[in-house]
Amino acid sequence: MATGFVFHELYLWHNTWNWAQVFPPSLTVQPGTHAENPETKRRLRNLLEVSGILDHLVPIKPRPATVEELARVHTAAHIEKIREISERGYGDASSLTPLGAGSYEIALLAAGGAIVAMDAVIEGKVDNAYALIRPPGHHATSDVGMGFCLFSNAAIAIRHAQKMHGIKRIATVDWDVHHGNGTQAVFYDDPGVLTISIHQNNLFPANSGAVSENGEGEGKGYNINVPLPSGSGPGAYQVAFERVVLPALERFQPELIVVPSGFDASGVDPMGRMQMNSSGYRVLARMLLDAARELCGGRLVMTHEGGYSEMYVPYCGLAVIEELSGHRTGVEDPWDKLMAAWGGMAAEPHQIAVIDEAAKLVANINKARGTKR
Ligand SMILES: [Zn+2]
Repeated sequence: MATGFVFHELYLWHNTWNWAQVFPPSLTVQPGTHAENPETKRRLRNLLEVSGILDHLVPIKPRPATVEELARVHTAAHIEKIREISERGYGDASSLTPLGAGSYEIALLAAGGAIVAMDAVIEGKVDNAYALIRPPGHHATSDVGMGFCLFSNAAIAIRHAQKMHGIKRIATVDWDVHHGNGTQAVFYDDPGVLTISIHQNNLFPANSGAVSENGEGEGKGYNINVPLPSGSGPGAYQVAFERVVLPALERFQPELIVVPSGFDASGVDPMGRMQMNSSGYRVLARMLLDAARELCGGRLVMTHEGGYSEMYVPYCGLAVIEELSGHRTGVEDPWDKLMAAWGGMAAEPHQIAVIDEAAKLVANINKARGTKR
């Protein structure tokens, strides 16, 4: 089994400056490092190297996405706005999303990283791929960068797969703790892309990601949200996969599965209040791999999103990449058992109630309706 790995040092040079999590800047608390800083990504990359698994992955060199590729998702005004702020050297794409000199070029390289991962999987050069890219993408809509995201990396890669490879049916399974609102918005009326997001209820963006958001027009039925209550752990995620994600994939029959992959649902993440651990992510990755093998020749592409615990993101990422590659490093996650002892691991009735609400939407998927763009 060959797993592609996309990374570039420049991903870590995107400058998000410092902040105090108070906007606009105020003098109420001392400014500190921005939550979306290079450290979690660098440490994940470091663990991949030190554990030895990097030697078992197929390096895929990213290239910058072209403006034409971006424009399949984003407005010209948005692309120009990001370019202009980057050229000026400082500014905010909207609230919470600062960028610095060169961030435009780095964001192009991130979107391009998602594209080359997609190409490698579709062309059969690798079985699956993990793109450790930055800045993240799943909150960016066609005309707004938000939630630390400038361009919608996964969506740009999906439009590329539709346009350049003629792929008709693509499913996304977003397990970042925040709602994948940008990816949802891009494909909201497209029955060729089934977007599924499992996230903490009403975390970010506010009032986004409800079960009732089920797509519109031709895309009605092709967006599914599972807004889990805060405190949900591996048990709830597994039930959500068993009752919503896997049946939806089975019904939709994707030709490719894309995972906007955030590790901010972990029990120690500063930006979420969930209870996932690395073995929980490992189980989800295994379920998706099995589904991909059964439905679409194993074609699975993961694009990195959030995850803000410097100490824990590396273990979650390693567990997922071990599953993708079929190679176990023997590295033990020292937090896994500790976290399990904190409780919240098993699915609870109020969590299952939300999952069962979302599960009703699976019937809205008509597997014959995939369209070609
Ligand atoms: Zn997130």
